[in-house]
Amino acid sequence: MAKPKILNSAWIYFVAAALLIVGAVASQFEINLPRERPTGTVEDFLKLGEREDVNVLFIVIDTLRADRMDTYGAERKTSPNMTELASTGILFNAVESQSSWTKASMASMWQGIYPERTGIQRYMKSMTDDAQMPAEIMRDGGFVTGGIWRNGWVAANFGFNQGFDLYVRPRPVTRRGMQGGNPSAHGLSGTDYDATEGAFGFLDSYKNDRWFLYLHYMDVHQYLYADTSPVYGTNLLDFYDASIHWVDRNIAFMMDALQDQNLADKTMVVIMSDHGEGFWEHGQEGHARTLFKEVQHVPLIIVPPFKIPGGVVVNEQVANVDIWPTILDILDLPPLERAEGKSLLPLIAAQGSTPPPADKLAELTDRAVFSQLDLSWGKVDNPSDSITAIVKGDHRAIVRQTQEAQQWLFDRSSDPMELKNVVAEQPEVYADLRSEIQAFLDYEPENAVETREIELDDMALHQLRALGYIVEPRTKARPAAKE
Ligand SMILES: [Zn+2]
Repeated sequence: MAKPKILNSAWIYFVAAALLIVGAVASQFEINLPRERPTGTVEDFLKLGEREDVNVLFIVIDTLRADRMDTYGAERKTSPNMTELASTGILFNAVESQSSWTKASMASMWQGIYPERTGIQRYMKSMTDDAQMPAEIMRDGGFVTGGIWRNGWVAANFGFNQGFDLYVRPRPVTRRGMQGGNPSAHGLSGTDYDATEGAFGFLDSYKNDRWFLYLHYMDVHQYLYADTSPVYGTNLLDFYDASIHWVDRNIAFMMDALQDQNLADKTMVVIMSDHGEGFWEHGQEGHARTLFKEVQHVPLIIVPPFKIPGGVVVNEQVANVDIWPTILDILDLPPLERAEGKSLLPLIAAQGSTPPPADKLAELTDRAVFSQLDLSWGKVDNPSDSITAIVKGDHRAIVRQTQEAQQWLFDRSSDPMELKNVVAEQPEVYADLRSEIQAFLDYEPENAVETREIELDDMALHQLRALGYIVEPRTKARPAAKE
């Protein structure tokens, strides 16, 4: 656990050397279609745990809201490769992220527990060894575990490297020919192609091992795209959409690399996001400020190591806390001991030839899922100021716990974009959901996770501010009363 620095530096040189050798593989953004993968069934998918050759490529596309992808019905063809993968894979239509701020969302997603239970809701909070992370389970299960990431909120100093043999931020190399850009987040050098190239090096090194690779893309967060991407226009949403198209191409590069390395028929790919992005739907541009649909509704696609003709579409409400309980269940690995999320295999099995028992399905339908954001996350001297959302059935309710007058209710049956607050029109629905939120907040697990507080040095703070986040470190004369 205390080795990442040595590994990191060795890895950087290793990647650089490997890239000199295999650089030709990545010749200027070509995509080889069609890709060949064998055909399989839902039953084959459910039996993946019996195989001992299945790798996992876990792709996080930071800041990707589902409804801007054509995979989820957007008019612009922003995500053709993900749409193709989903068409013979497993597509989840209703997915809730657990926060609109990367660190809180990712800590929750990895551990399969809600932010309330991770304790990771402020910028100085770090996970400790007490947190159980999927990479630890994967490594114990015999996988070589690698993480390649470009977002400082998942850096090793916050405890996110636990279980990874290699955990690196790729060296920023590529930038030429990039367009667009999020004006509030100008300071991240390089592009997602640096991460893609790092992943090529990983595959080349470990193709004969069993591996798990976590790849965290950031260009959608940055609204960056290659000059060969479609030009949709000149406003921020146009840039954002073009960046989705660009990262979608990086997914294609990865699929091509799997094929070139003869790994396509033994690699399961999972594509997800930590949160979405607002474009003034509720008065805000960006994320990490609210829990409205535009920052909370995210994609989830599971691509098995074979094509399922016709694909599988899951419409039930699910959440990012379900992702790792599901993956570990598929692989027949030990579960996350504290998980509040559920394995989604019964929802997938329900679309095969042998549906699961009714009680297994019942606990996954009409379920409530939650998300949280501490509005004081970036201000260490301020007291906690949390908002919590519940999504259940046709409704999303949100409350700001410190200012109970700030409450929202959206009826998704008549208002799919969730723009009209109907607390006054449907007070009973709101009251019921508010009491479910209270029960959620009051729940205290027996084995709460231990966290710790860290001090960030100037460089780390600078890097996080460069992403557009307002982070206010501890003031020197800190009143004792706030301890
Ligand atoms: Zn993020």
